[in-house]
Amino acid sequence: MSATPKELADEAVVLRTYKSGESDRVVVLWTRHHGKLRALAKGVRKTSSRMGGSLEPMGHVKVDLIKGRGELFITKNVAHLERMSNLRSDYQRIAAGLAVVEVIDAIPTDESADEGIFEMLVRVLRTLDNTDFHPELVAASFFFKLLAYDGSEPVVDHCVTCASPGPLVAFNAEVGGTLCVNCRSGSALSADALMLIRRILGGDLASVLREDAPPGSGEVMSLSHDAIEAHFGKRLTVSRSTAPLAPLRTPPLP
Ligand SMILES: [Zn+2]
Repeated sequence: MSATPKELADEAVVLRTYKSGESDRVVVLWTRHHGKLRALAKGVRKTSSRMGGSLEPMGHVKVDLIKGRGELFITKNVAHLERMSNLRSDYQRIAAGLAVVEVIDAIPTDESADEGIFEMLVRVLRTLDNTDFHPELVAASFFFKLLAYDGSEPVVDHCVTCASPGPLVAFNAEVGGTLCVNCRSGSALSADALMLIRRILGGDLASVLREDAPPGSGEVMSLSHDAIEAHFGKRLTVSRSTAPLAPLRTPPLP
């Protein structure tokens, strides 16, 4: 990245925020043109603050920032670019969205000035906001797509160790994909889950997401989580909560 400018205007997604001092908040942003940035939003926890509402995680916003001390910027202006109210009114959609921003936040920052990832991020949030699509597999699909984007797409059409066409009975993210009976390690893989992963990576994602929890969904969610953790080499917390071992049927938030 070139020298950081003193003042910048950009489009961003809020990855997370945390409290700072009495009334301030630090906002972690993934911007379109400047990668991942941290900005101090002064006075934003006061009830009179106009910026507060735009600084929620998953917000797609327009920001004006001024260079502060060290790595930190100061927010001059933050405004919503789109509301995404469906995303914010359903527990499963919120959980999936938080899993997505958590994973984006885990991307090593030296890779962060990447407009392609920004585009993928906005697209996945819009997908979660679109009630034509079921939210269950959105985060899982995003994790597989992100691996593919990063050049680490798992092998799912043959055994990653011996190249046998199958039957493929296991998935091991550390090894890089599906495994046959003789080479198996990692997690057991059902035929349903294998088919779903192939559809997700093979260009059939939109129709997968129109189906309400297709067979193998739980497995695919769990495997995608293992794969993204193996890729970044760190434990992620929020994304685990998207695994629907017991279906979540929490009433919408007000
Ligand atoms: Zn094999």
